[in-house]
Amino acid sequence: METSSLRTAGSCYGPRLSKVDRGLGMKTRAKVLVAEGCPSTRSRLCDALCGAGLLPLQAGEASEVLRRAREEAPDLVLLDLGLDAGGDLVRVLKASRDADEFLPLVCLSRGSDERLGALRRGADECLERGVDDELLIARLESLLRIKRSHDRLLARERELERLSVTDPLTGLYNRRLFEERLREEFVRSQRFGDPLSLIMVDLDHFKRVNDRHGHLAGDEVLRGAAAILRNCVREIDIVTRYGGEEFAVILPRTCLPGCLAVAERIWRAFGEARFGAADCRLRVSASLGAASVPAKEVRIPSDLVDAADRALYQAKRSGRDRIGLPDWSRPLPRQQAAPVAGGARGVFG
Ligand code: GH3
Ligand code: MG
Ligand code: MG
Repeated sequence: METSSLRTAGSCYGPRLSKVDRGLGMKTRAKVLVAEGCPSTRSRLCDALCGAGLLPLQAGEASEVLRRAREEAPDLVLLDLGLDAGGDLVRVLKASRDADEFLPLVCLSRGSDERLGALRRGADECLERGVDDELLIARLESLLRIKRSHDRLLARERELERLSVTDPLTGLYNRRLFEERLREEFVRSQRFGDPLSLIMVDLDHFKRVNDRHGHLAGDEVLRGAAAILRNCVREIDIVTRYGGEEFAVILPRTCLPGCLAVAERIWRAFGEARFGAADCRLRVSASLGAASVPAKEVRIPSDLVDAADRALYQAKRSGRDRIGLPDWSRPLPRQQAAPVAGGARGVFG
């Protein structure tokens, strides 16, 4: 058995961190995928990396390089260009991560032509095969430093992106994401002729909850309402806090009867729920307004919001704790258990 093949995942090396990792306060060693066809060269390179506190992973063939790069997410790839016979490996490795991620790729070449080609195909550095270990390690450490700071900025950017579409109280998506996704889903539904539904949910007499039990209890009810909504829909549905005590649920590829079934599930869940601490179990009902496309009255996304809003208003006007439908919606084919106001009232009211 080739001895170096045992030296993966740091099993035979101590926990010493590299200068880069220590300097950046890292708790784990940087993983370097050593892609080298010659076993003895690979073993020597791994020893040098270990000596510098890096964690080598090994691959001796192109297919193994790609598999380990995909499955083990190395922090850097050190690639002997002898493995890149077709000239595609550099490009494929670089494209194996999301566009905004940085996977440093250092190539080992056998001449200046090879070197130029690799750099042009996307390599970040290209050194002569047989380069002095100290210089190689210094170059790897320099690229790892850049990667660490790139990763930190990327994580911060992604967190900011997440915060910009999240409601801090309930953890649901916020109004901004609602507008964006409704526009997208509306366009998709028009393009492919899929139905699309929207449910607006407004808690009944919520002001009283605040007035009688305080705003913290009110906040707790809002968090509970968010949990109910999340539990009542499918994963691809989009639950958002529209504002205050109003929520909006986008249901892609859902027609009006399907939407009404979801609305009914939500209505029923509010009826069964008790909010707040054990010594203060509150009942809070909700009024819902549902609307769907295709409908000739709905031409742009805001028409759908308007229709669901008017249906919600109808539910409020008819006594709250019920589901409203647009005036123009046709009677639905099955008897609903929930009180329904609006277009289908003649059938269900
Ligand atoms: P209706 O049945 O007609 O909807 O009556 P309502 O009392 O629910 O509606 P109204 O619009 O009169 O009051 C909504 C209340 O929601 C008033 C506002 O203080 C409260 N509210 C809005 N956002 C929050 C929040 O983040 N936390 C708490 N605790 N209350 C909130
Ligand atoms: Mg309201
Ligand atoms: Mg309300």
